[in-house]
Amino acid sequence: MIDLHIHSTNSDGYFTVKDILKMAQENNINTISFCDHNVLGAYDELKSIDVKKYYSGRIIPGIEFDFVYENKVFHMLGYNFNIDILKSSKYIDRRTESELIKEEEKNLEFFKGVCKKLGIKLSDDLTITRSSEPANDIIKRDMQIHSENKEILDEILGKDRKKSFWLGHVTNPCSPFYIDFTKGLPSAEEIASEIHNAGGIVVLPHVFEYKSIDNIQFLNEMYKLNILDGIECVHSKHSKEQTQFLIDFCKEHNLVKSGGSDFHTDKVHTLGHTELGEISDDFCLK
Ligand SMILES: [Zn+2]
Ligand SMILES: [Zn+2]
Repeated sequence: MIDLHIHSTNSDGYFTVKDILKMAQENNINTISFCDHNVLGAYDELKSIDVKKYYSGRIIPGIEFDFVYENKVFHMLGYNFNIDILKSSKYIDRRTESELIKEEEKNLEFFKGVCKKLGIKLSDDLTITRSSEPANDIIKRDMQIHSENKEILDEILGKDRKKSFWLGHVTNPCSPFYIDFTKGLPSAEEIASEIHNAGGIVVLPHVFEYKSIDNIQFLNEMYKLNILDGIECVHSKHSKEQTQFLIDFCKEHNLVKSGGSDFHTDKVHTLGHTELGEISDDFCLK
């Protein structure tokens, strides 16, 4: 069993690197990769601790970069790069914790204003305490606490509450909650060349997670750029059919297959698993 897509507190994950190492050991996961958003902090942490004390498996260097394509934000995974080379990339996010908190505070105020306009009740004491708990997570959770929001939440998050607030609203220009995060972001080609320059491979994650696009057209367009080495076939948001489609796509185009849960918190995911079961070694960049 493997998990090549894990977020730690270095980006928006709930658990520390150490916590995750212990979890991976307990769950018998033989290979993991920390893929925090635009940062390599997890790998600095690994250097400063006695990893073997917590985890005996293999750790593949990983990162999840933002890029902009047709005015929308997408993600690209990089694996197996030289960490020191990639660390000097201009696309690594170097903002400090206090700068990040300030930005999230601004986002929180914006979301509060939108909720007020829409008649959505929120608790009075919402604040940002750390950047790994961003404003959109806080708002999404708090909206669901108040029973008087039920009707409007049916609309915003769907009756089963499974719609993604991030993808369906925060990054969707048609939503009142939209925030433009595309400013200053690199293109897919720029990100890919940065990963390749550091000796790594470029893997397109969660193709079917995006909601407001034609996913297969997007996959084909990314493939045509000639930058992809692989595709994340197994992901928590992929159905059995979608996974099989991507496996076939990899075979046809000679790309490597990866698999990861996109672990952020154990409330949503189990490390090394998706709803379809354990993530098998077949998806370890083979
Ligand atoms: Zn992602
Ligand atoms: Zn991710």
